[in-house]
Amino acid sequence: MTGFDPDSALVRRVCPSPNHGEREESKALDSIILHYTGMETGEAALARLCDPAAEVSCHYVIGEDGEILQLVPEVRRAWHAGKSYWAGERDMNSTSIGIELVNGGHDFGLPAYPDAQIAALAALCRDIGSRYTIPATHILAHSDVAPFRKKDPGEHFPWGRLAEAGIGHYVVPHPQDADAPLKRGSSGEKVEGLQGMLAIYGYDSAVSGLYGKKTEQLVAAFQRHFRPALVDGKADESTVATLKELLATRPREAARKMPAAVGIS
Ligand SMILES: [Zn+2]
Repeated sequence: MTGFDPDSALVRRVCPSPNHGEREESKALDSIILHYTGMETGEAALARLCDPAAEVSCHYVIGEDGEILQLVPEVRRAWHAGKSYWAGERDMNSTSIGIELVNGGHDFGLPAYPDAQIAALAALCRDIGSRYTIPATHILAHSDVAPFRKKDPGEHFPWGRLAEAGIGHYVVPHPQDADAPLKRGSSGEKVEGLQGMLAIYGYDSAVSGLYGKKTEQLVAAFQRHFRPALVDGKADESTVATLKELLATRPREAARKMPAAVGIS
């Protein structure tokens, strides 16, 4: 593809990537997925996102200085989420806009996200929200939709600041206390309840009553987004209370979207 007209007036530069396909027509575009590039430089990340051999892409890249680039038109299905799940949907690439934030990520010391970059992201999310109906609970981390494989955009991503700008669903994390958390090897009703709550919120959580590796990974993904002070995969009181408050405060449109089959047993 040669150039295309950007979808947003906020776009400074169009850098067309060949890596995209048709969206599944029956599915509504209702999600935004945030990533970090996880490479040493923004240039290296951009080269990879436009390399046909890499078979990855996203719609937007935001530089550390807040510069917004568009790589794939919004109507096209970019390749950023991979094997993924949220709230009943397993083809998140068809239902989302993918935004990559230039940031070295876990491999390069998990650098802080500069204010200019977060301000640009908030403006872009608002702009995308003017074209599509995106529930607050569908502005997500890659690690929320691929919790068994991915950690981005990481526990340093400022979800609270984004929420102050009116973007996403967020509550102040409940304070940590010394308590005996549910953890790998735990079982029973409390584990079932935890797994059920994670599933109702949107996570790919099976309700088995057994706290295995997958539950640990899901809890770590939850903590990375909603209780980032300690990401250990153990469901302590602070983690559970934060999850309960999120469920109690989620906007009604999110509840409506959930498939009827998902629920606490
Ligand atoms: Zn990612």
